[in-house]
Amino acid sequence: MASLANAATRALRAYDPGHDLPALRKRFGAALAELGSNENPLGPSPRALAAIQAALSGIFRYPDPQGGALKAALARHLGIDAGQIALGNGSHELLMLIAQCFADANTSVVFSEFGFAVFPIATAAAGAISIRVPALPRDHSTMPLGHDLDAMAAAIRPDTRIVYLANPNNPTGTWVSDAAMDAFLARVPATTVVVVDEAYQEFVDDLALTTAMRFLEKYPNLVVTRTFSKAYALAGLRVGYTVGSPESISVIERLRESFNVNSLALAAAEAALADPQHVARSKAFNGSERTWLVERLRACGLRVLASQTNFVLVDFARDAAPIEATLFERGVIVRPMGGYGLNEFLRISVGSRAENERLLEALP
Ligand SMILES: *Cc1c(COP(=O)(O)O)cnc(C)c1O
Repeated sequence: MASLANAATRALRAYDPGHDLPALRKRFGAALAELGSNENPLGPSPRALAAIQAALSGIFRYPDPQGGALKAALARHLGIDAGQIALGNGSHELLMLIAQCFADANTSVVFSEFGFAVFPIATAAAGAISIRVPALPRDHSTMPLGHDLDAMAAAIRPDTRIVYLANPNNPTGTWVSDAAMDAFLARVPATTVVVVDEAYQEFVDDLALTTAMRFLEKYPNLVVTRTFSKAYALAGLRVGYTVGSPESISVIERLRESFNVNSLALAAAEAALADPQHVARSKAFNGSERTWLVERLRACGLRVLASQTNFVLVDFARDAAPIEATLFERGVIVRPMGGYGLNEFLRISVGSRAENERLLEALP
């Protein structure tokens, strides 16, 4: 049967979740430190939890296929038209959908060597050719492992239909300024869609980076994705959104499954958006806790890359697999980087103070 799968699917492998987290939660209970998936340790806004409660009685109905109330709230929040927004079952779904809509076997897709892991999967699923552009070197003075925007612009071919670019990026935590983004966008031909994945935008405090959304009018080929999984702490509900020109959004809407975002997620996201203080608290907590964690890790003699996100990439300067295994045995889950070819690194989420302390104690 496997040989009956289409060419694009034959080239793919099923998602490897790494560890069996439900089993680990049973084994370690409250002592488990989950620092592998960049979740917000503060949890969601109480308003989001109340909205979920209130929406429970309606779950025998299909959700609103337009997500009208959430889109209206997002449009107000972002100062754009609701027609510029598509909703997704997490932004992961939207990243996949964009490739399905714009790429195919006769096209190529450009992304950075250490760009988000979903980019090559979305490309392969669409049957397109992946063009992985070497990242900035490990010893780069300001942004080691970051996106090399000059090289990315130069890698775009006439058949390149999409450029994916996470800003800030996962797993490196690196980022590019608004000015650098603008200069990059100016070099991309109008026939290539630029997808800027802003999953961590709410955590950014470098004033040189706000959002690529400010360039939407200047570049109609730009789309920006965001998520409620990170700063809004709704990862378990799966809701994200993409913003672009009404024309790009109408293309994405053709392939979007009509009920892709469930009714609890719609209600929770709308309520979370109405609680900016909670996001501000999450950002402030993350900023101060990340500073504390980075100081402690550096005091252990480790190299920690600069980050504008809720995780840090740590360079252990030797094979990190045994370190990850030791942490695992001690109930501390972090993310190995072998899949990116970064065997000496681990990606560690900024957790609660108790989790971060457990990590530091468990380090071999
Ligand atoms: C976590 C993350 C996402 C969010 O995925 P969801 O499907 O919205 O949960 C998207 N992009 C990047 C770079 C991420 O790290």
